[in-house]
Amino acid sequence: MNHKIIYLDHSASTPIHPLVWKEMEENYCHFGNPSSIHQLGQKANYLLNKYRQKIATLLNCETDEIVFTSGATESNNFILQGIAKKQKTKPHFIISPLEHPSIINTALALATQQKINLDIVPVSKSGIIEIAEIKKLIQPTTKLISITSASSEIGTIQPISAIAKLAAESRIFFHTDLTQIISVLKIDIKKEKFSAASLSAQKIYGPKGIGLLYLKRKSQLDPLIHGGSQEQNLRAGTENLLAVVGLAKALEICFLERENYCQKMISLSLLLDQQINQKIPTAKLTGDKTRRLCFHRSYILQNCKIEQILMQLDLKGICVSSGSACNSGNKTPNFVLEKMGYSSEEATNSLRVSLGNLNNREQIIFFVDKLAECLENNKK
Ligand code: PMP
Repeated sequence: MNHKIIYLDHSASTPIHPLVWKEMEENYCHFGNPSSIHQLGQKANYLLNKYRQKIATLLNCETDEIVFTSGATESNNFILQGIAKKQKTKPHFIISPLEHPSIINTALALATQQKINLDIVPVSKSGIIEIAEIKKLIQPTTKLISITSASSEIGTIQPISAIAKLAAESRIFFHTDLTQIISVLKIDIKKEKFSAASLSAQKIYGPKGIGLLYLKRKSQLDPLIHGGSQEQNLRAGTENLLAVVGLAKALEICFLERENYCQKMISLSLLLDQQINQKIPTAKLTGDKTRRLCFHRSYILQNCKIEQILMQLDLKGICVSSGSACNSGNKTPNFVLEKMGYSSEEATNSLRVSLGNLNNREQIIFFVDKLAECLENNKK
């Protein structure tokens, strides 16, 4: 990567960790199809099982509870579409406004097609879902509660263990999207009452196009993608062995290095807060101040046109975003911020700064200086 670039968009994607790349390279020669019965196929199948086992051990679940997918988008679609399809009568789903578009847009599409009744749980300016609000929405027909573990837009962490417990007590399937939180929180699936969980390797210094769905045993959903009998008949298509190797290694490194990583992220985020308070005091941090991802900050900027600011920062070599990359085509106000009660102008001028391995203190100071400069030059 060009070392002059300052990359502050780790929630959108992370670079591949050198040790992940090394392990993938070491396995590149195993090109056989894991379903072939000859020796090259069997070798690939052996490796697929070995890496599946590694992931199951890290997450503390069973190997047959892991379905490899192309990423969290697919995993999320699988759950929502799968559960909707399984019901004899129209089910009721509960999601939150903090979900990734792969949950929100799938749920909205299912509701438009009259396949589900949908409630989106309200959220206050804290950006944290209240359990009592979910309780109020539960109906006899509620078949799914899907709440993200941490918002990719705002960075707030949700009380998913408690929500999962509530869902289990009410005999409702509970799914959570672990994509943003997994780099900083060690998840022990056996301890949690999740029915399903999604994640993507690209957010944890692994390759793109690979993720998984944790699906609790006996869930019996129909596949989203039909075809061969791969992944226990749940996800057809030849398994992407090299990407699975990358996912397993990325997960291993992120669990091993978690403490150091979190310490570094906390220290950089505190510096960022201090610099913003000092140099851009009008910027408002969105969401709860403490119950948030240690590498993530989201601000509302005053008196500016956010696209111009982002473009000018880019010209100075600073890559930062106004929110989820999956929403970046939209010039409309940020959906989450509007639902949290911000005005449409505020919800349009959000800036998301997500830190990672590529950052250091000098970069944070340089970034805030340049941001302050751009804001001054672009005052409306
Ligand atoms: N969920 C969350 C919370 C995300 O941040 C993302 C990536 N923006 C996804 C799901 C989708 O991941 P992918 O694009 O790898 O499928």
